[in-house]
Amino acid sequence: MSDLTIIPAAGKALPAPRKNRHFIGGAWVDSQTGDCSDRLSPAHGVVVSQSAKGTAAEAETAIAAARTAFDDGRWSRLSGKARAAILLKVADLIEANVERFALIETLESGKPITQSQGEIAGAADLWRYAAALARTVQGDSHNVLGEDMLAVVLKEPIGVVSIITPWNFPFWILSQKLPFALAAGCTCVIKPSEMTPSTTVMLCELLVEAGLPSGVVNVVLGFGQPVGEVMTAHPGVDMVTFTGSTAVGKLITKTAGETLKKVALELGGKNPQVIFPDADLDSAADAVTFGVYFNVGQCCNSSSRIIVHEDIAEDFVARVVALSRRVAFGDPLDSKTQVGAIVTPEHAARIDAAVKAAVAAGAEVVLGGAALAVPGLGLQFYQPTVIRGVTPEMEIARDEVFGPVLAVLTFRTLDEAIALANDASYGLSAGVWSENIHTCLAFARAAQAGTVWTNTWMDGFPEITFGGMKQSGQGREIGRYGMEEFLEVKSLVMRIGRTRAPWVNSP
Ligand code: NAD
Repeated sequence: MSDLTIIPAAGKALPAPRKNRHFIGGAWVDSQTGDCSDRLSPAHGVVVSQSAKGTAAEAETAIAAARTAFDDGRWSRLSGKARAAILLKVADLIEANVERFALIETLESGKPITQSQGEIAGAADLWRYAAALARTVQGDSHNVLGEDMLAVVLKEPIGVVSIITPWNFPFWILSQKLPFALAAGCTCVIKPSEMTPSTTVMLCELLVEAGLPSGVVNVVLGFGQPVGEVMTAHPGVDMVTFTGSTAVGKLITKTAGETLKKVALELGGKNPQVIFPDADLDSAADAVTFGVYFNVGQCCNSSSRIIVHEDIAEDFVARVVALSRRVAFGDPLDSKTQVGAIVTPEHAARIDAAVKAAVAAGAEVVLGGAALAVPGLGLQFYQPTVIRGVTPEMEIARDEVFGPVLAVLTFRTLDEAIALANDASYGLSAGVWSENIHTCLAFARAAQAGTVWTNTWMDGFPEITFGGMKQSGQGREIGRYGMEEFLEVKSLVMRIGRTRAPWVNSP
């Protein structure tokens, strides 16, 4: 363990805990019960925010506010240009507040400060791109239906949208959804994760400053039960967009099914990178190392399993292990840190249990496999972990660990690699490394994944849509398709002149 790269406590003074309240109908409110919940910094173990703990009452009031705001057209009937102007102002305000947002994001989530800064600044670009899309809401025209007919297909905002987000990328994931829903003309009720509520609340301050009409965006703080459940079940909501675990995604689908509301889901993954012998192995090893440790592996896109050609497997694993030792794990407040803390002690215990189960099943830990002691901080860190000798039926090859744990499988032929990559209930993303374009394209076509990367990992753009196949989700986010999710389709059929023969016979 001593040969790992560990960044000790930076000794930075932490700010006083931030107080968060619900934002409903343009007003800041406490819960009727007066209850609050505390969030401890995963790395530092002290309270960093105290948030109102919502009940069904606050969720219902927020839904009513969003319903009124949608139905009276204060946002839904604005021009695309007017909506875009406000979204652009929000983007500017986000950029002006990167440092403030990044600090609390890091304190609540445990992610490195430089990563938080990148995510907040990057989110501004999502708002800008969505602003551009706001002016492109357009359907189809049908002018060849016959001399006396003309039809148009209109796109309309779907209505009131419930947005439920997780703790791993709090502001980024919110920004994958909210500006696109707003660009479409929807009104929203948002529930951030109970663990990372602050940047969602802080965004509301910016929305007010940018001139967003009250009631268009509402935030209810609290837990899945009861807040998230009310936001999913309520007949006043037209759509739920959720990012989180596959288990909760299934619950949401069931509950939303009672009122047949639309559901968009971004769920888990067990994302493979396949490495062929002709690949640029230096770049592939670096990308695998990045793919597994980024956000301590608490990432839906984590490349938590690699499928390596058996001729190069030993050499490739040695490269990844050597690189793993150089990745800086430690205090998220130090700008040198690349990998921070695990979100909760319970989650750290789950990661460790998954590693122990892999060993019990016959796999071999070649690096890590235990909690990481960071001098001056607690034990809510986990060592970079590489496990080889993994076979397809083992849980470590199939289940999302959501930690810094890499499972190594091997293959001999392209067909075998494709079969192994697709042998999962998930289908979020996949990668292939080869200098042969035919190999890359054959793999890309066959991979059951919403995104396939060739000779790279986790590059993303606001223009490029994102989402999962199989049990990784349904619907798409960002890109043009991301806004389409929030649009309803209406066909308008028009007769030109009075040429229609009567259906009822003349008397
Ligand atoms: P989670 O499912 O536990 O919680 C997500 C959100 O749902 C939280 O706000 C939570 O309070 C809420 N919730 C919980 N129970 C609910 C219920 N019954 N009804 C309504 N809402 C409820 O997920 P998490 O632990 O916060 O996040 C980790 C998971 O998210 C991982 O599985 C990860 O793969 C997934 N994820 C997916 C993507 C993606 O884009 N595909 C991105 C990030 C995270």
